[in-house]
Amino acid sequence: MTAWRGSAQWDAVVVGSGPNGLTAAATLARAGRRVLVVEAADTVGGGTRSAELFESGVVHDLCSAVHPLGRVSPAFAELGLAEHGLTWATPEVSLAHVVDESRALAVFRDSGATAAGLGADGTAWRRLVETAPDRLAPLVDEVLRPVRLPHRPLLMAGFGARALLPVDVFTRAFRDETTRALFAGVAAHAIMPMSAPASTGPGLLLLAPASVTGWPIAVGGSQAIADALVSCLRAADGVIETGRPIRRFEELPPAAQYYFDTSARDLAAILGDRLAPRARRRYERWRYGPGVCKIDFLLSEPIPWRTDAPTRTATVHVARDYRQIADTEATVARGDHPGRPWLLAGEPTRIDPTRAGATGRHTAWAYCHVPHGSSTDMGPAMIDELERCAPGFRDVILASRVTTAAGLGDYDANYVGGDIASGATSLRQILARPRWPVNPVAPNPYATGVPGVYLCSSATAPGGGVHGMCGYRAARFGLAR
Ligand SMILES: Cc1cc2nc3c(=O)[nH]c(=O)nc-3n(C[C@H](O)[C@H](O)[C@H](O)COP(=O)(O)OP(=O)(O)OC[C@H]3O[C@@H](n4cnc5c(N)ncnc54)[C@H](O)[C@@H]3O)c2cc1C
Repeated sequence: MTAWRGSAQWDAVVVGSGPNGLTAAATLARAGRRVLVVEAADTVGGGTRSAELFESGVVHDLCSAVHPLGRVSPAFAELGLAEHGLTWATPEVSLAHVVDESRALAVFRDSGATAAGLGADGTAWRRLVETAPDRLAPLVDEVLRPVRLPHRPLLMAGFGARALLPVDVFTRAFRDETTRALFAGVAAHAIMPMSAPASTGPGLLLLAPASVTGWPIAVGGSQAIADALVSCLRAADGVIETGRPIRRFEELPPAAQYYFDTSARDLAAILGDRLAPRARRRYERWRYGPGVCKIDFLLSEPIPWRTDAPTRTATVHVARDYRQIADTEATVARGDHPGRPWLLAGEPTRIDPTRAGATGRHTAWAYCHVPHGSSTDMGPAMIDELERCAPGFRDVILASRVTTAAGLGDYDANYVGGDIASGATSLRQILARPRWPVNPVAPNPYATGVPGVYLCSSATAPGGGVHGMCGYRAARFGLAR
C-alpha cells in the first residue's frame, strides 16, 4: 500500500468524503485539529457528486439534486459555505405534482398561492402541513439531531402528534385525492409504506421549508456543496486522499480519533473484533430498505410539459393518484417491482442554466423505488410515465443512462442494495439510529464503543439527506471528549 501523506500522527482521520464525512472533517479542522480525509473513489463528494455524463460542458447530479434540508442546515450555516462558493438557486415553485398531461398541483414558496391552488384543501394544508417562518429554525434544530427530550416541548408535541401518524391516516384530512397524492409524494421520499407508523414525519420535515426557504438546487450542481466543504476544510489545513478504499482498520494511519462516513455494515467489517460483540451485532443486523433506480437524461429541449407548474421548479413528482404511491411503496417493501412506478424527477437546467452553459442542452433525471438490491432496468417504464404527462418527451431525449439499485450500491458503498439512506427508515430505526438513546438528555448515537472511533454517516441520527448534521454532531461529540 502507498504511504500516507503528511502528518505521522493525525488528530482525526475521517473515512469517506460524503457530505457527512466532509462536514465532520471541516468542523474538526476549524476547531484546530489536524485532519485527514480518506475517500475510496477518485473524487470527493459521495452523494453530492456531479459530472459531465454525456457531453462536455453539461453537468448532471449523479445522486442528490434538491436541497431543502441543506439550505436550512445549521452545520452548513456554521461552516459558512456561502463564503466558500456555494450559491443556491431557489425556484418559486418548490415542487410540482403532475397527475397527467392536463393536471398538476404546486407547492409554492408563497403559501397563499399554494392554498389557492389546493382549493377546498387549502386551509387544511396550511394548518396541518405548513410551518410558520419563525418556527422553521427551532423545528430544524429539534429534528435534525438524535431523538432526545425536546428543548421546545410544545413545538415538538405539535409536530410529533402529526409526524407519528401513518400517511394513510394523516391524509384523510384532505378532501381531494390529488392533495393526498401531493403530500404522499413528499413523505415517500423516505421510502416507507404509507401505512407505516411515523411515515408522515419525513413529509412534514421536507415540507417545512417549502414555503419559507424553498427547495433549492446548488448553482453549478450538487458538487458545489462538496467543493465548498472541501474549501472550508482546506482553509483549516485539512488534507484529503482519494482512491483509498479502507477495508481493515490496520490500513489507517495513526490518529487520536477516527470518524467513519461509511455504512454500518462496512464499519462492522472494518473494525471487526475491536467492537464489543453486542455493538458488532447491532451494526451487522442494521436493516436496509428498498432501493432506487435512476435515469439521467441529456435533452435537446426542456421536457414538453403541458401544464405550467412543472416548468417553474426543479422538482417534479409524477403519480396519477394517492393509490399509485401507496401501492408502489407497499409493493417494494414486500420485495416486488411496481408495474407502473411513480416518479421523483427534476429538470435542473430550468432553474440553473449555468449547468449547460452555452451548449443549448438541457438536463433531467428521474428515479423510482424498487426492491432492495434490484438490478432491474426501470428506464423504459420511467420514460413511459414521463411521455404520458409530457407527450413528445421521447423526441427530445438525446442520451440517457440508467443506474439500477444494485449499480448504486457499486457506485457508493454506503447505498447498500440501492438504499439511498444507508438504512431503512422505520419508526424503530428513526428512534434507534443506529442505537437506542442510552442518555435521553444527551444521546450519543455516534460512539461505537471503541475509544475514539465514531460512525458519522447517514446511518446515524438524524438520517438521510444532504445536511451534514450526522457528521457535524459526531464531530461535536468527538471534540467534547
Ligand atoms: C439517487 C439519489 C438521489 C438522492 N437525492 C437526494 C436529494 O435530492 N436531496 C438530498 O438531500 N439527499 C438525496 N439523496 C441522499 C443523499 O445523497 C445522502 O443521504 C447523503 O449523500 C448521505 O451523506 P453521507 O456523507 O452519509 O454518505 P455518502 O454521501 O454516501 O458518502 C459516503 C462516502 O464515503 C465513501 N466511502 C464509503 N465507504 C468507504 C470506505 N470503506 N473507504 C473509503 N471511503 C468510503 C464513499 O465512496 C462516499 O464517497 C440522494 C441519494 C441518491 C443515491
